[in-house]
Amino acid sequence: MKIDPTIPGPLAYKTNFLLIWWRIWFEQTAILLMDLLPRTFDIFLSLFLLIALAPILLVRAIVAKVSTGKVLNAEPLVGRFRTPFWRLCFGGDALGAKFAVLLNILVGDMAFAGPRPMTEEEVSRLTPEQGIRFTLRPGLFSPYRLRRKIGIAYDNETVSDINFYYSETVKGDVGLVARSVIGDLLAGGDLRPTPPVLHFFGVDIVNTTMDEAVDWMVKRVRDSAPASVAFVNPDCLNIACKNENYRQVLSAAERVLPDGIGINIGCRMLGVSLLANVNGTDLFPRLCERAAKEGLSLFLLGAKPGIAEAASLNLRGRFPELRIAGVRDGFFAAEETGQIVKEINDSNADILLVAFGAPKQELWLAEHRDKLKPCVRLGVGGLFDFYSGRLPRAPVWMREIGLEWTWRLLQEPGRMWRRYLIGNPLFLYRVWMQKRKEM
Ligand code: UDP
Repeated sequence: MKIDPTIPGPLAYKTNFLLIWWRIWFEQTAILLMDLLPRTFDIFLSLFLLIALAPILLVRAIVAKVSTGKVLNAEPLVGRFRTPFWRLCFGGDALGAKFAVLLNILVGDMAFAGPRPMTEEEVSRLTPEQGIRFTLRPGLFSPYRLRRKIGIAYDNETVSDINFYYSETVKGDVGLVARSVIGDLLAGGDLRPTPPVLHFFGVDIVNTTMDEAVDWMVKRVRDSAPASVAFVNPDCLNIACKNENYRQVLSAAERVLPDGIGINIGCRMLGVSLLANVNGTDLFPRLCERAAKEGLSLFLLGAKPGIAEAASLNLRGRFPELRIAGVRDGFFAAEETGQIVKEINDSNADILLVAFGAPKQELWLAEHRDKLKPCVRLGVGGLFDFYSGRLPRAPVWMREIGLEWTWRLLQEPGRMWRRYLIGNPLFLYRVWMQKRKEM
């Protein structure tokens, strides 16, 4: 007699052989392939570059041998699974020393995209949760390195590495390599000095990090030390060249902060480095987070009717503890100014954000400086348009290659073409002239 091994009745389930077959063969293979794909990309690209650049690499190797007696130098670093490896570079200071790293990528010590390789000493300072970075091959290009170069590395390196770990794909790797090459071209490959103050056409800009800028504002409120803060981009600096009043207002401001890739490129032309692109749009959510934690309140003044309210609603959704003491649009008659100043003061806000666009907002803040009660006052341009959702912000990949301005140009070509298409080259010309004078 043949015995049926399956148990009949409601508890029984039918074996899906197709699913089992899929799980055993295809799913596993797909996972393996997804792991293998980035490595395959590295092997092919490094091999292709080594073959394509062979004559140059040969000349570079001869130069290294003749000038230093050694073809290759090797730096000890820590790789995947904490395995030590030697990162190669050609001997001597001549151009192209770093090309030897292609050999490291070919043999699998490194990848094109991955967390930055670290020294033993740096590794000894890592916390256990930071160890996740060692499950990946260290990369020639890392997301953190790219963002730091462009000045938008506001999160720390660990956060950036963990995000990379959970999101890596071949497409993402190709994009990261491409954006890193563009980033190097814009901001320059080498490290340059980072002076505390950057000078552009008589305007002094504080060279600082995002965290320090937020700490400073909170401290000013805590110390009841009134402060005006302005964010300047190349357009603002162009205006300051012609508008004496605005230039004086910027000189009198307690802090002027750098906004945008243009300042980064300008710094490169002057032989210095920007610590971070501390623009109002990226600073704002961080300031709100701190204000919510510290119990500080905000007043939003500016933009078209309804926009500041919409921004305030969005902020309350994101930071439920945040106190928004008041909002008011930026289109009012001159006679209403007294009433608006009173409204702001009566709200007892600690921080006032004024969004009229530059230079109107800075001139307005300077004119009413002694009458306004909020301790910290910021001119924030089109900020409320972004946070209300009226205007979408440029995608991250565009910001990573310094193209946010192109996004703004496409959004409002009629208003922005003069600012960017004429203003940007004019700014670079002015920086070049300043550099020539300084030499
Ligand atoms: N705006 C205002 N009152 C005015 C003129 C302009 O509130 O009298 C607002 C305008 O609606 C916009 C912001 O000021 O929200 C200016 O944005 P823009 O993009 O020009 O500023 P940026 O960030 O580029 O300095």
